[in-house]
Amino acid sequence: MATFVKGLIGSILVAYLAMKWTAPSFDPESLKGARVLVTGASSGIGEQMAYHYARFGAQIVITARREKVLQQVAEKCLSLGAQKALHIAADMAIESDPERVVDFALEKLGGLDYLILNHIGPTTFGMWEGDVEHTRWLMKVNFFSYIQMAWRALPSLEQSKGSLVVVSSLLGKMTNPFTLPYSSTKFALNGFFGSLYHELAMKKSNVSISICSLGLIDTDSAMEKVRGVTNVPAYPATEAALNIIIAGATRQLDLYYPWFTQVITLIKDWSPSITNYVIQNSYNYIP
Ligand code: NDP
Repeated sequence: MATFVKGLIGSILVAYLAMKWTAPSFDPESLKGARVLVTGASSGIGEQMAYHYARFGAQIVITARREKVLQQVAEKCLSLGAQKALHIAADMAIESDPERVVDFALEKLGGLDYLILNHIGPTTFGMWEGDVEHTRWLMKVNFFSYIQMAWRALPSLEQSKGSLVVVSSLLGKMTNPFTLPYSSTKFALNGFFGSLYHELAMKKSNVSISICSLGLIDTDSAMEKVRGVTNVPAYPATEAALNIIIAGATRQLDLYYPWFTQVITLIKDWSPSITNYVIQNSYNYIP
């Protein structure tokens, strides 16, 4: 048994190293002047992505709902080296806003090389209490707006041999308690964009898709929810942001950050009862 486990761990490690070894290398120069639209960029991972793109000398459009905060982020982007940093306030729950934002970026930047879909609407963390209306609203913000924006931007990305980057979650790959509406939107994203990847490949499209599955990241909004509820370690937003940017620039289909989230998705179905036990006991919950 011990030999089997050692062999298994060894094989996983070898497979992981081989994957890393053969992955295309990242050239920061490739982002100089790149035309990028980042959503959900007023805070958290989106804000950190805006700053990284700025340091690489990209031309950036950022969006979220809070105009004043966006303005400050855009100013900081310029001071960090962005060739352009423009912002547009938008609410992704409003039917016409996703297309309005893409049109703004296309007009101001003359096209797009990267569309980074990252925003999420605020949601509760707790037992499902039957709030169907909230789930419907969250689907609009976290899912429908993503597919609207992707469709609007595809012709330009096709022309520029560009990249579509979708920020998803480990909670879009495995079920968990307390985040039912959020998790549903992430499963929907993985299903939609994973399927779109096939269609683009079959059409020999120039556009690459990257789907980023993140574990717990130390953004204010995430930490507020999980503090005292779980001991799962949180990883730095700035490093998550850089990994997402590299995944897009190197046209990787899948990003797992931190790395062990990939191992979790690989082994979670081997013994569902053990997986379920571990999941349910990783939260401090007393009924
Ligand atoms: P934050 O809550 O920090 O940021 C969310 C962003 O979305 C903000 O800029 C917010 O700005 C914007 N936003 C909220 N509602 C709307 C709306 N209706 N219309 C437009 N924009 C809106 O999120 P994180 O940085 O933590 O997460 C970023 C991404 O990473 C998400 O896709 C998330 O699912 C994913 N992820 C995060 C993890 C984590 O632990 N942090 C774990 C796994 C995945 P404003 O309020 O100004 O509108």
